[in-house]
Amino acid sequence: MTRYKISLLVGDGIGPELSECITKILEKIHDKSASLKFDIIKVEAGDNALLKYNSALPEESFKQIKNSQACLKSPVGESAADVILVLRRYFELFANIRPSKNYPNIDSISEDVDLITVRENTEDLYVGWEFFSDDNTIISLRKTSREACNKISEYGFNLASKRTKKKVTIVHKSNVLRKSDRLFIETAREISKKYPEVQIEEMYVDACSMELIRNPNRFDIILTTNLFGDIISDESAQVTGSIGLAPAANIGEKFALFEPVHGAAFDIAGKNIANPTAFILALKMMFEWVGYKYNDINIIDQSIKIEKAVNKLFINNIKTKDIGGQLSTFEFNKKFLQLLDKEGYN
Ligand code: ATP
Repeated sequence: MTRYKISLLVGDGIGPELSECITKILEKIHDKSASLKFDIIKVEAGDNALLKYNSALPEESFKQIKNSQACLKSPVGESAADVILVLRRYFELFANIRPSKNYPNIDSISEDVDLITVRENTEDLYVGWEFFSDDNTIISLRKTSREACNKISEYGFNLASKRTKKKVTIVHKSNVLRKSDRLFIETAREISKKYPEVQIEEMYVDACSMELIRNPNRFDIILTTNLFGDIISDESAQVTGSIGLAPAANIGEKFALFEPVHGAAFDIAGKNIANPTAFILALKMMFEWVGYKYNDINIIDQSIKIEKAVNKLFINNIKTKDIGGQLSTFEFNKKFLQLLDKEGYN
């Protein structure tokens, strides 16, 4: 039997509702599984923490996250940058992995899409270097290092080499960002030599955003920089149905953090209508990562069961309202738990 310490950052807006759904799932697996046990450490962070402790990521919360083996993070509101950017930098979570694929009975503009955005996660404009030049002008600096380009390229090509299509599209804007994005492309080309089985193409980010609408199934791995990846992955989430279905993994060498792509969505907070699927699929990604890191086949198997259960619910048109169903957040989560019972526990 293996016991994992999982920190769960509760967040703002729809964050607390979604955290409750995920807690119920983890508790259920903990109770029913013979091989998997969890210590769930609830962590305060975000706008609520800022009001209460005058810090969006209080020292105690930071300690709790450091003390866990992986982190599940709900969306955070206005103070998002003071939480996620700090965590990404501290834990060196250099890769942001955002899969987008079609699910049964989910309206989308194209079929057979199964792509992953592999986004550099620590540099670019996200370093937050903004300065007043004078009262009317602000200068923002963009960081691109060979080391970060190398790491993300290695991750992207390695991931592509394990997939069926085995294709990497390098997305950039090197006609304008002549030095930084040139470095990004050249590094990616260099890394690609280690993966001759992987097909490589290069595309400007504007062309990519158009192609995502016109012909999304041409993509397999989209390898890109931080800001472009943020935008492209929201677009590809919508291409396959809804942002309410899109999970993200922030991966480092030693630690990883998993979250839904969507934000705190204050417009629907507290109404029991948010779709918990993106967070459920983020949990699936966490199980997979933990499984490979700790060589635990049971938790990998449990991750497969999570995705199977989501698929089965959608096949039977059991969905939340945002994707054309009838169910509330907690009704959907209950149905998910019932189906997980049928899939079984490792
Ligand atoms: P950001 O932090 O990215 O600015 P946001 O709070 O503006 O986040 P988005 O993630 O951009 O929200 O989502 C846009 C809208 O999509 C939300 O205002 C909400 O109406 C809807 N939405 C987002 N997430 C969900 C969800 N899980 N379920 C249902 N609807 C959602």
